Amino acid sequence: MRAVSLPPASTVTLDDRFARELPEMAVRWQATEVPEPGLLVLNEPLARQLGLDPASLRSSEGLRLLVGNLVPSGAAPVAQAYSGHQFGGFVPRLGDGRALLLGEVVDADGRLLDLHLKGSGRTPFARGGDGLAAVGPMLREYVVSEAMHALGIPTTRSLAVVATGRTVRRETPLPGAVLARVAASHLRVGSFQYARATGDVDLLRRLADHAIARHHPGAAQAQHSYLGLLEAVVAVQASLVARWMLVGFVHGVMNTDNMTISGETIDYGPCAFMEAFDPATVYSSIDQLGRYAYGNQPLVAEWNLARLAEAMLPLLHDDEEQAVPLAVEALGAFRRHYDAAWTSGMRIKLGLPAGPDDSATTSLVDDLLALLQKNSVDHTSFFRHLGAAARGDGEPARSLFLDLAAFDAWARRWRALAPDADVMDRTNPVYLPRNHLVEEALTAGSEGDLNPLERLLDAVTRPFDERPGLERYAEPAPQDFGAYRTFCGT
Ligand code: AMP
Ligand code: MG
Repeated sequence: MRAVSLPPASTVTLDDRFARELPEMAVRWQATEVPEPGLLVLNEPLARQLGLDPASLRSSEGLRLLVGNLVPSGAAPVAQAYSGHQFGGFVPRLGDGRALLLGEVVDADGRLLDLHLKGSGRTPFARGGDGLAAVGPMLREYVVSEAMHALGIPTTRSLAVVATGRTVRRETPLPGAVLARVAASHLRVGSFQYARATGDVDLLRRLADHAIARHHPGAAQAQHSYLGLLEAVVAVQASLVARWMLVGFVHGVMNTDNMTISGETIDYGPCAFMEAFDPATVYSSIDQLGRYAYGNQPLVAEWNLARLAEAMLPLLHDDEEQAVPLAVEALGAFRRHYDAAWTSGMRIKLGLPAGPDDSATTSLVDDLLALLQKNSVDHTSFFRHLGAAARGDGEPARSLFLDLAAFDAWARRWRALAPDADVMDRTNPVYLPRNHLVEEALTAGSEGDLNPLERLLDAVTRPFDERPGLERYAEPAPQDFGAYRTFCGT
């Protein structure tokens, strides 16, 4: 454990557990020097949760910590090695090309969390990349991850975005930034693929033991702890992706290197929230075949977990012929977990009590989704307005449909089940980081005006709490916003 003092008297203690336990997957590395760091946004509640004094973090020493230039003597920032299937093709050596794990911190609740930087300069994994990040995409990660957290969806958190004062060359010159990110860990499906690809079963076992200790301690009690680990990851990922689907979140780049072992959402690149309901919704400019479209996400998660199972085969049984059926059975649980999480989540969104007869809810949901798609209804507004409908004011929800008769017929069936509006309002957000609002905040933020970002953060970090004056944050994009596209690798 190493400590660094920050003025006036705040201390951060960083552990180097990952680097110690898995040295084959950690390359000691330093962040690029940032001559003039400028704080753009700081997450004060999260800082306090980590035992960091926000005022100290705002000081020049604090900013140097947040860009990786102030490292406690003897601390061991590392670039992590991992592999990954990117759009279906296996890349054996990816790793942190522009990121560093500074170390692990213990938060106020005793949890061990990674403190990690993104945009901190080239590493040995940078390949052709410049190791840098631009202000816009780092602010996007900040606002979307904090919105996800406020929605109750497991996610990495954002501690700060610090401008570097350096220009980053993309299609146009852009201002550079470093994001300080906090996560349960950065272990990914791709971490297991990397360990497996080395052929070193002892490394694979140590990685699995590290994952069990940090994220799935229950697996240690299972009859077969590695099978228990696989089952636990299948369960948390099924639940996570169901949560995404229930709020219309499109991750955009569900490569196996962007899927965690902890069950947290990670890597907010070309992500976006769906507006008009349509399973084919894609935002990423590089996802031309729609592999990571909204409606494909559960299938892709299952596919990624199959890659995890493959990587873990030597841990499941010495004899591969006996390992395979164990893996297949563990993967088979994905659909059951996913369906259960989705169905109960949808029931709550519709304000319906848990009942022995789920088939009525299922057909109600299926018919609703078909109607939403056919009428191009805004997903978020619809569910929120439906809460008002449960209180007797059906017009806001109804007005979203072209086919009024079809909606009325559906609503009669739904109302007959006595929906509970309060339950609905606690689960259906008013405010999400809608794409046009995110773009507006990022554009202004890149030009030095952080007011739109702060207003957006205020709305989306209390997503269920409808407030006067924030009406425009609840509305879909204006027509002229057009077909939204996000760009990856920025
Ligand atoms: P992502 O698609 O953002 O998950 O990144 C995939 C891989 O590309 C990871 O290994 C990243 O570290 C790497 N990468 C992305 N952008 C850059 C960059 N600008 N410089 C170096 N490596 C990068
Ligand atoms: Mg990534």
